[in-house]
Amino acid sequence: MTSGAGGVKLEDLFDMGSDDDEFPSSAVPVKKEASGSPDLIPSSPPDAGPAQHSGSDPELLRTFYQRLFPWRYFFQWLNHSPQPTLDFEHRELSFMLSNDAVMRYQSYRTSDLLRKDVLRLMPTRIEIGPVYSTNPRERKLLQNAANFRPIAKELCFDIDLTDYDDIRTCCDKANICNKCWQFMTMAVKVITAALREDFGFKHIMWVYSGRRGIHAWISDKGARTLDDSKRKVIAGYLEVIVGGAQSGKRVNLRRPLHPHLTRSIDLLKSHFQEDVLEAQDPWRSSERAEKLLQLLPDRELRDALKRKWDASPGRSSSLKWSDIDQVAKTVTNKNFDSKALLDAKQDIVLEYTYPRLDINVSKKLNHLLKSPFVIHPGTGRVCVPVDPKTFEDFDPLSVPTIQQLIHEIDSWTEPEVKSEKAVLDWEKTSLKPYIDYFRTHVNAIMRDERDIKVKRERDGEDGESW
Ligand SMILES: [Zn+2]
Repeated sequence: MTSGAGGVKLEDLFDMGSDDDEFPSSAVPVKKEASGSPDLIPSSPPDAGPAQHSGSDPELLRTFYQRLFPWRYFFQWLNHSPQPTLDFEHRELSFMLSNDAVMRYQSYRTSDLLRKDVLRLMPTRIEIGPVYSTNPRERKLLQNAANFRPIAKELCFDIDLTDYDDIRTCCDKANICNKCWQFMTMAVKVITAALREDFGFKHIMWVYSGRRGIHAWISDKGARTLDDSKRKVIAGYLEVIVGGAQSGKRVNLRRPLHPHLTRSIDLLKSHFQEDVLEAQDPWRSSERAEKLLQLLPDRELRDALKRKWDASPGRSSSLKWSDIDQVAKTVTNKNFDSKALLDAKQDIVLEYTYPRLDINVSKKLNHLLKSPFVIHPGTGRVCVPVDPKTFEDFDPLSVPTIQQLIHEIDSWTEPEVKSEKAVLDWEKTSLKPYIDYFRTHVNAIMRDERDIKVKRERDGEDGESW
């Protein structure tokens, strides 16, 4: 009954503007990329709606959901067990349909029921919300609306390359290349290290969003059950870059530095040299070098650097960076503060490398976030999970597109030595390594969850025997 087999209710189709505003999907208005925004992707005309683009071609999408989407592991990932539990049944899923209507508060008991409904509705985008205290579909039957509240969700992070537009020189807006993708590699290293070492989280999955960003999903039980105030504290702990691109100095840290920041600088130093100074060369023009000067203390130092750089136009950012210490030695001002200069340089390294988080995604239990394995409507690429251990080798531009995958199924030929098990469709495609990784990740979550349950039961029995 809860699978919604009996057709779509109109009120659900237009949930966004109805009485459900108490839990608005902040993801939908924030993330404009799904609704055919004029962000530039070479293969798509700027004003093409998602329905016209191959990434959401209904026939391709149907084949994808039917034969490639990893339903079973998706269910186990959200359910934390092979047998159906309320973790899945009370979980909100939200669908965006090809006409851009959003259906919120969908929920299912099993992966099969979900799969059937997805094939019926053919959403171009699936978003994941929290587990609620009651079944989301039955929220309107409750006498007391306060009994319907979010109780658990993965801790999530969202990082988008458009937030790096003031420091990347290779691309802007929705465009990415392997040079600026390195900012995502830096982000994964720094955030993963903090989540593991400072918070003790184990089950961290990073997902490529299909175009220009990444999401993290932390599935440890301790992360899922954090309330909003604790999520806010963690988000604040990890947030270092503040203000917008026009707000001047965006890193202002107290000294001595927190160990998280010392560790982050250690992880980021070599990236700063190679991926920022050399690859991005952010201060080559004198106009851009002005920005670097503004971040340095001491008037005499700034003036001397400016004279030196004006005398050699086009001097590279690497040279300009090493000029700072050289020129500092010549400063005659008795009050020159070399500690302030060192601090300013550390702040600059962080401003140009530290992850720029969309912190609102992390702060709230009821924030919806795009599901892994959906198709990005603009690029046609699958939102694939990526192992943080090998993130450095991950190339977003080689992630398979829906067209490519369906072609791979069609052109697959059976090997001469047949395997005993039937080969599944996804195993015939370049989606295989991503689903293999997802399965390993999900199995580790379920193993831990089982151990917690066994321990609880054992402790409970011990308690009774006393
Ligand atoms: Zn780029």
